[in-house]
Parts: sequence; C-alpha cells; structure tokens
Amino acid sequence: MNDAILCPKCSRNDMIQKISGMQNQRFTFPDLPSPPEYSCFEIIVSVFVFGIPFWIAFACALSGNSDSGFGWLAIIVIVGILSVRGYIYSAQKKQYEEALQWQTSAKHKLDQLYYCGREDIVFDPYDGTSAPARKWQDYVSV
Ligand SMILES: [Zn+2]
Repeated sequence: MNDAILCPKCSRNDMIQKISGMQNQRFTFPDLPSPPEYSCFEIIVSVFVFGIPFWIAFACALSGNSDSGFGWLAIIVIVGILSVRGYIYSAQKKQYEEALQWQTSAKHKLDQLYYCGREDIVFDPYDGTSAPARKWQDYVSV
C-alpha cells in the first residue's frame, strides 16, 4: 500500500488498491476480435469461381468458337468483385486498428488508476478525478 496515495472521496488509503495489481476479472478488457484477413486463397477462389464465364469463353476461343466479349465481361466482373472485397477489407482493417489503438491507450490509463473499496470507485491519484467502478471503461476512454 502506498501511503502517499489517498482516495479523493474518503481521503483514506486503507481500502485502496492499484488496479494493475488486482487479481480479479473486473477490470479486464474484452478480447479484441481477430484482425480481418484477405488471403491469397480467397483471391484465388473468387477469381476461379467468378471467372467461370471467362474460363468458358477461353475454352470456346480455344476450340475456335470465340465470343471474346463474354470473356471481357467476366474480367470486369472479377475486377469489380476484387475491388469491393478490397474496400470492405480496408474498412474492417481501419476499424480493427482504431479499436486496438483505443484499447492500448485505455490500458495505459487503467494502469495508473487505483480502486477504493469503500465507495467502489476508481480514481486517478495524479489529477484527483474519480468515477464509479462500474463505469471504469468510460473513465479510461477519455
Ligand atoms: Zn474511498
């Protein structure tokens, strides 16, 4: 127990604990979802599947039965699908990185906080602010 640190509400230190040293699950962050993936496998599968009209046109061209307009249309469809998928991927990645960044800074803030069991609050001994313990996630977000 650090004698220099006092609870801002009760001005005592007999029931305070540094949150980073507490052995309970109350002040833990939820696991982040895994980062989005856009794999080579997915690209290959989508080119293969959505390229079926192209492969048909290609086979027809080989057998001298050409309709190349069909093949070009297939290429445009493939490029369009890959572009949309790439756009969705970058949006998900951005969202993931923002969540990661938030959690990193929130964890850093949480490490500086203390808990007082008398009022059930979390507080920052350096700026004297506090919040109800049940709102700790909002408190570390600012
Ligand atoms: Zn207190």
